[in-house]
Amino acid sequence: VSPVSELHVLEIRLMPYGDRQTLLIARDVTRIQQLEGMRKEFVANVSHELKTPLTVLQGYLEMMMSMEEKDSPNAKPLSLMQQQTSRMQSMVEQLLALSRIEDASNVDLENQINMRNLMDVLKEEAKALALDRYQVYFSCEPGLNAHGNEIQLRSACSNLISNAIRYTEEGGTISISWRSTPSGGGQFSVKDTGEGIEPQHIARLTERFYRVDSARSRQTGGSGLGLAIVKHALGHHHSELNVTSEAGVGSTFSFIIPVHLIDKQEIVVEESQL
Ligand code: ADP
Repeated sequence: VSPVSELHVLEIRLMPYGDRQTLLIARDVTRIQQLEGMRKEFVANVSHELKTPLTVLQGYLEMMMSMEEKDSPNAKPLSLMQQQTSRMQSMVEQLLALSRIEDASNVDLENQINMRNLMDVLKEEAKALALDRYQVYFSCEPGLNAHGNEIQLRSACSNLISNAIRYTEEGGTISISWRSTPSGGGQFSVKDTGEGIEPQHIARLTERFYRVDSARSRQTGGSGLGLAIVKHALGHHHSELNVTSEAGVGSTFSFIIPVHLIDKQEIVVEESQL
């Protein structure tokens, strides 16, 4: 490397070259990292600054709505303004969640997560979102605890569950499961009988703001950030999102992470319908 006056970040790759040689490729990624750092800081600051004005707007709108008669001419515009403000609020929340998760370093992979408790929390969340409009099945293999950061994994699982519900017509089926895999890991998966995704979109789903159908996502209250959050949370756990989907039939989103077996003898999968 030629002499440099400041610290540079190099990305180094080793590749086999012919039978006995190895090719070393070094790329200076200092500038890319600086720009990426600026982008993250900008997004985090703007989102943070937007939080207070939006809360004030939302508060006043709610107060004005409570003072209007239901059939007054102002009722509809106020309700539309309130819906849009609340959409902006949830986008700002998602942007902040993404910034936090992108910045999170040093995930303690030794930390054990009680998956039974986490699945109970997710079950309650799913119940609240699905109400009686969907069939939701839950299965959890007991004695199988995950390793890593509970907040991040919970956020990843919640995003997958809320997507499954949002992209499935009422009356559809959502199956959520946590079980061991033959390779010795734990697999969390969410299967739905929803609208499904055309193959050409699948590779791009975890990009920030990528949405298969923007108009539809807007209707369902999507920000296009949920799967980016999932990707980053899983990346910190050396895992990645697997997606299998068929348009018009449904999708399965899953990931595998390292686990700790508490009691190998007693493996009876607990299944329930919400
Ligand atoms: P959004 O907030 O728009 O849902 P996400 O990042 O969570 O953003 O998802 C990106 C896009 O992936 C969505 O806009 C939707 O088109 C597609 N998608 C995600 N989950 C599902 C699913 N379970 N079924 C069908 N499409 C999905």
